[in-house]
Amino acid sequence: MASSPSFISQAGNLQKYFSLDQKGTIIAEYIWIDSEGGTRSKSRTLPEKDYQPEDLPVWNFDGSSTGQAPGDNSDVYLKPVAIYPDPIRLGKNILVLAECWDSDGTPNKYNYRHETAKLMTAHADHIPWFGLEQEYTLLDLNDRPYGWPQNGFPAPQGPYYCGVGAGKVVQRDIVEAHYRACLYAGIQISGTNAEVMPAQWEFQVGPCVGIDMGDQLWLARFLLHRIAEEFGVKVSVHPKPIPGDWNGAGLHSNFSTKEMREEGGMKHIEAAIEKLGTRHQEHIAVYGEDNEKRLTGRHETGAIDQFSYGVANRGASIRIPRECAAKGYGYFEDRRPASNADPYQITGIIMETVFGAV
Ligand code: ADP
Ligand code: MN
Ligand code: MN
Ligand code: MN
Ligand code: MN
Repeated sequence: MASSPSFISQAGNLQKYFSLDQKGTIIAEYIWIDSEGGTRSKSRTLPEKDYQPEDLPVWNFDGSSTGQAPGDNSDVYLKPVAIYPDPIRLGKNILVLAECWDSDGTPNKYNYRHETAKLMTAHADHIPWFGLEQEYTLLDLNDRPYGWPQNGFPAPQGPYYCGVGAGKVVQRDIVEAHYRACLYAGIQISGTNAEVMPAQWEFQVGPCVGIDMGDQLWLARFLLHRIAEEFGVKVSVHPKPIPGDWNGAGLHSNFSTKEMREEGGMKHIEAAIEKLGTRHQEHIAVYGEDNEKRLTGRHETGAIDQFSYGVANRGASIRIPRECAAKGYGYFEDRRPASNADPYQITGIIMETVFGAV
């Protein structure tokens, strides 16, 4: 039988090489965020030892190949900011999250972390917690949601959310592998579930303090793409992958401060929501591309041009969970961010709106 070309990795065959002695070296996978909200990465060999981000070499890449720099001045610098154990290569190998800097000593245009880190430092005494719910859709190599008929549609939504069983969910192996890989890497992944649209899934990361939220979510996104690659499956974070009566994908952003989490915290929650209401358009502007296709006021969303909030209301911009309303303290959920939004931009603008610019 003729073998057809396959893009699916034969990772199992690699096991014997993965157990070879590295002779006193480790592999550091430098990861950065590109101009389109994707992750890129490249590998380098370093002497084996325990590294802190500041011990790691600053590196660089060709920014003209990623839309991050012009061809005549193409070097973009990679400044390590966080290190994670590598769940793919195992051993002492590491994943290195890096910020992008231009050669003139300023943050690269797509480096949204730098400003957000300043806001987090300035307002650190409020101990901001974030929990982000990353929804995504698995696609086959023809960009069709995985398991959907090539010509036609699955049966209407209903059985798929938190679904169990063939015909209800697809590619659970990717979800399980990603969950374990995140735990190994030290990501505070708090859970996962199948979503309303078939082939759509969600994982949650949090609660994380300050800048760690963006760092951990980006690392978790990298791992999702990297693991799905082994299965020959694409990951889409488009907020409305299929038009019509199919749920879109969001990045619900849960937020609280020390004051909100204490007895009587509801007045701090309400004060923050009031401030969010005065800057609705500014928030929408950084809450993801194509979000207008998702925030229609249907399919468990609020309309894009209207700010609203309510207890247990999944059709509002902001939801106060029922349990928090009953207790009188806790957190709130900003339901507006799209699945393709940048977590640094989301957490940054929430801090700026609630506590002021720096
Ligand atoms: P939903 O009911 O909206 O689907 P999920 O359970 O999917 O909610 O996600 C809730 C997220 O909120 C989790 O990431 C969790 O860690 C986070 N979270 C819980 N408590 C807080 C809090 N006090 N402040 C910020 N985030 C929180
Ligand atoms: Mn080269
Ligand atoms: Mn959720
Ligand atoms: Mn969800
Ligand atoms: Mn939610």
